[in-house]
Amino acid sequence: MEIVSALKKICPKNFISKKEDLYVYAHDTSRNPDKLILPLCVVFPTNSAEVSKIVCACAKYKTAIIPRAQGTNHCGATRPSENSVVVHFSKMDKIININKENLTATVEAGVVIGKLNKELEKLNLFFPPDPSNLAVSTIAGAIALNSGGPRTFKYGNTKDYVINLEVVLPNGEIIETSKNIAKNVTGYNLTSLFVGSEGTLALITKATLKLIPMPEARLLTLAYFDNIIDCVKCVNNIINKGFIPSTLDLLDSVTLKTIENFNPCNLKVDKNALLIELDGFKSCIAEQLKILKEILIASGAENIVQTSNEVENENIWRARRSAFSALSQLKPNVITEDIVVPRDKIVDIVLKIQELSKKYNIITAIMGHAGDGNIHPNFALDLENEIENKNFEKLKDELFNYAVKIQGVPSGEHGIGTDKRKYLDIALDKKTHNLMKQIKNFFDKDNIFNPNKAI
Ligand SMILES: Cc1cc2nc3c(=O)[nH]c(=O)nc-3n(C[C@H](O)[C@H](O)[C@H](O)COP(=O)(O)OP(=O)(O)OC[C@H]3O[C@@H](n4cnc5c(N)ncnc54)[C@H](O)[C@@H]3O)c2cc1C
Repeated sequence: MEIVSALKKICPKNFISKKEDLYVYAHDTSRNPDKLILPLCVVFPTNSAEVSKIVCACAKYKTAIIPRAQGTNHCGATRPSENSVVVHFSKMDKIININKENLTATVEAGVVIGKLNKELEKLNLFFPPDPSNLAVSTIAGAIALNSGGPRTFKYGNTKDYVINLEVVLPNGEIIETSKNIAKNVTGYNLTSLFVGSEGTLALITKATLKLIPMPEARLLTLAYFDNIIDCVKCVNNIINKGFIPSTLDLLDSVTLKTIENFNPCNLKVDKNALLIELDGFKSCIAEQLKILKEILIASGAENIVQTSNEVENENIWRARRSAFSALSQLKPNVITEDIVVPRDKIVDIVLKIQELSKKYNIITAIMGHAGDGNIHPNFALDLENEIENKNFEKLKDELFNYAVKIQGVPSGEHGIGTDKRKYLDIALDKKTHNLMKQIKNFFDKDNIFNPNKAI
């Protein structure tokens, strides 16, 4: 095939096309597609000029490009379509520059977020967005999905930390969206347009990120509640007293039990918990911990565990980050969903999830970034079982319809990808959706960048 030979010429050493090697790139962390589509080949460019050449070749042969980082998204955002090639950014993984005075870092697309934060720690700096799997997920993946994570409530999500992007457009042109400066209203905000666009408008090759100084200390509190409703109501009790915790996450009893079984770390099972992280100056945290405890007790917390050092923090974070893997003990498949509702509707959505899980007999573990109204129900099931599979589809339809009815949306941080496009008709106003389609058409009239995703 001409496109395959053309790409092999551009990246002769960083190219694969053997059928057995391509299977892995037909999947991501989302459920397996009904029909597996293999890409024609996978190329691993090492610089922006190569990316541009790849795009020009694909434009010439009208071949779709599936941009891919580590494939850890949950929504089929890197699933190949017919006649497509995967452009994999793992070989563009250099931290180009960290500027302590300007509080910026310029990095290549494939830099792993955890690796960047390790380098930043040495300089007492911090990049807050953390898609909970920062040991593997990358800057470009997080930008393309506008990833959030447990620290969004206080610090915002990825969009709040991207100040300039180098991107390759569908005609092969390389442009910068801004300058490496903190503020810029000179023209349209193209940076924001590309953040969250799921690789459908441009390929990100470099990003300049905003950094902040590392907080002096962080301490975690795990507050256990017998009743999930008290646990959820406590979120607003904390905020209304003036607290802006860096994490305000919910873990229900199924989640706690499964984590403890998988990775024993003295979690109290048969309870529901709020995981609360306070950060800042040591002296302030000590004072805040006292007040926080009073709020938790007044809200009905049965048991409160507070860490006192970084080792104890790390143990709890490790447990929290293992939740998704832990759930795979229960059934062959685990599917994570992502719903955001206004914070005063979290109780309603949690009750709805429990009701639907009972109605359709599907094991459900509820967790989420409750401070943002962002709930992740994790469904453990066997997708090979036809009845469970059908029930799960019905459950999802009812759940997302309900979420939209109470002013929520079907994704706050995992993206739409392929899997959630069917909910866009209920989640977006028709005129708004049409405008999005026109934007896509303006940038990419031949629809070669990640087709059938995002909008
Ligand atoms: C255990 C687990 C926990 C998670 N928890 C959270 C969480 O708490 N919060 C959260 O927000 N997310 C969470 N995620 C999902 C998260 O969104 C992704 O893991 C991550 O942000 C992107 O990962 P990635 O680098 O693997 O990108 P991929 O999955 O490879 O790609 C993601 C998107 O980016 C596009 N893309 C990749 N590279 C480029 C590029 N160079 N140019 C243009 N587009 C590109 C892809 O086409 C795709 O649309 C979790 C995932 C797992 C597995």
